[in-house]
Amino acid sequence: MQEIMYKLIFTIIWLLNGLVRRPHMKKYKKTEMISSKNTSREKLLYFLAAFGMMIVPMVYVFTPWLNSFNMNLPDWIRLIGVIGFGFGLFLFWWVHRTLGENWSPILEIRKEHKLITTGPYKHARHPMYTQIWIWVICQWLILSNWAVGVVGILTWSILYFIRLPEEEKMMIEEFGQEYEDYIKRTKNIIPWVY
Ligand code: SAH
Repeated sequence: MQEIMYKLIFTIIWLLNGLVRRPHMKKYKKTEMISSKNTSREKLLYFLAAFGMMIVPMVYVFTPWLNSFNMNLPDWIRLIGVIGFGFGLFLFWWVHRTLGENWSPILEIRKEHKLITTGPYKHARHPMYTQIWIWVICQWLILSNWAVGVVGILTWSILYFIRLPEEEKMMIEEFGQEYEDYIKRTKNIIPWVY
């Protein structure tokens, strides 16, 4: 398949992810929060990850600046990336729908926060992070470019590994035994595995 087709498919799914998030971001801005953790650091990490997932791939799609990092991956691997990215879009929609108003781009507890343990949250505590891992790996495969792959995975890893223990700590402080029990019967991001 031609490079332009991969770039087009990637951009369409990328935009659809944005459309899924949009109404939730609007609602979030009106939601009253009762506590937040490490707000400045969280915002910085969020923008760092957004740089790797939004800016760098779009620089590759719309300019020739990163072409020297091209990898020439075979079509079948790039198609696996397309299927994975498409599945990630579905997961993103499902997670947002299930988490509803309890979602926040940083670590926060809202007024009347509810612990969600259904749908994608039944077997994994962090399915949105599963989706983001899928995103950064698949954008690498689809666009077949070292710069896109390495920057995406690196910026996301920093956020993921710093945030995960902090988020679990915050949830235990808020939900106590209920969250401890939830930890015992679920995995982090891959049901039954990790
Ligand atoms: N880590 C989750 C959610 C990411 S959004 C995931 O990967 O799917 C981050 C916010 O979601 C946190 O600020 C926290 O308030 C909220 N949150 C995380 N897990 C939750 C759960 N099981 N139920 C309700 N809210 C949750």
